[in-house]
Amino acid sequence: MIDQIALRPSVFSIRGTEELPDRPSLKGCQCKCGYVFFPRQYFGCESCGRFGDDIENIEMSGRGKIREFATVHRSQRKDLPAPYIVATIVLDAGVVIRGLLDVTDEKQLSIGQTVYSTLSSVGRDEDGREIVDLRFSINQSN
Ligand SMILES: [Zn+2]
Repeated sequence: MIDQIALRPSVFSIRGTEELPDRPSLKGCQCKCGYVFFPRQYFGCESCGRFGDDIENIEMSGRGKIREFATVHRSQRKDLPAPYIVATIVLDAGVVIRGLLDVTDEKQLSIGQTVYSTLSSVGRDEDGREIVDLRFSINQSN
């Protein structure tokens, strides 16, 4: 197996959760009030204002449902050539996030469709390890 390293290790983990072990997990926070947010930030709970020890780091399963999606047809980003599809995804944990899908054809997508986190190779580091970033896939199998 090739060593993989996360492009954004503060945002996601290559390892899955107990519930969804084969999919990368997302790093969020849960407040004592029950509110869950992503990505992690430490200026306080967006819902009740608690901070410090009242905020716990959690790892969320990378499964959710598509709320909306859009195709980006033009982009200046060299690391992300257009077209690509951005989706608003409601994770099972209840958090709403924006994510990139690993498909480029909108005809494969529908509102409410289940998507799963997956890893996409975006390059190699100086040691030859594969650098991976987070995407979402409509395929249940990895
Ligand atoms: Zn709170």
